[in-house]
Amino acid sequence: MEEKDFKCLRCGAVNKFPYEKGVMMERQCPKCGSNSIRLVKEKQEEKK
Ligand SMILES: [Zn+2]
Repeated sequence: MEEKDFKCLRCGAVNKFPYEKGVMMERQCPKCGSNSIRLVKEKQEEKK
């Protein structure tokens, strides 16, 4: 299983969590305890 960066929507902390395609896993921010965690996309498209 690979690890990806996830960002906490509450405090903005970025942490690595295990990630598997198509699998919803419960994640919790180690900093603030929130479970509002979103995957940080590696490729950021620049809009011109
Ligand atoms: Zn947090």
